[in-house]
Amino acid sequence: MKITKVIDTRSYEEINDKWFPIPGSGENNICARCGKSHEVHYYVEVDPEYKTIEIVGGGCAKLAGMISETQHKSLGSAAVTLAKNQAELEKLIRNFEVRTKIISEVYKLELPEITKEDFKEKKYWIVMQDNRVFVDDSWMKLDERKSTLIYGWRQNRINELTKTIPGFKEVHDFQIEDCRKRIKRAEAKIKKLMEGK
Ligand SMILES: [Zn+2]
Repeated sequence: MKITKVIDTRSYEEINDKWFPIPGSGENNICARCGKSHEVHYYVEVDPEYKTIEIVGGGCAKLAGMISETQHKSLGSAAVTLAKNQAELEKLIRNFEVRTKIISEVYKLELPEITKEDFKEKKYWIVMQDNRVFVDDSWMKLDERKSTLIYGWRQNRINELTKTIPGFKEVHDFQIEDCRKRIKRAEAKIKKLMEGK
């Protein structure tokens, strides 16, 4: 019998950097074999001629001989891994977009005046509100120092704004890429296992 799809229907939540399924959050679907509701659904083609699909739980599918022992063991856990990573990816993208929006807002802000403080011959500080940068005129380029000052001031504004967002975490491109890779791996594993390999 052909398995056409395996899906963990539960929602996942993040607790201390780990993802857990929310009990009872899965889509209710009556199992074609036992009549109960399972959270991990197997779609099995029971009649290839008419393409009849039965939606069953893993345990029930194994008992009925619809899937093998190996498939039962590995497919369920691969479906869980996939669902977990999909939930994580959604959150990563959400946080990434929130920060991107905040950055663009901060870059539109008018920059406060730059003042100088604590002169000692060629050495002094340039100050922009809550950010300050040291300058030694004898070897440092003032333009570069000013860019660093502005950059730091903008970072402070970005941090201030992201702090007001509940559950916000800074997300880097590579984290999104890594998560996408994990999803691809889980999908490939599921595909292989469905084919009985
Ligand atoms: Zn069942």
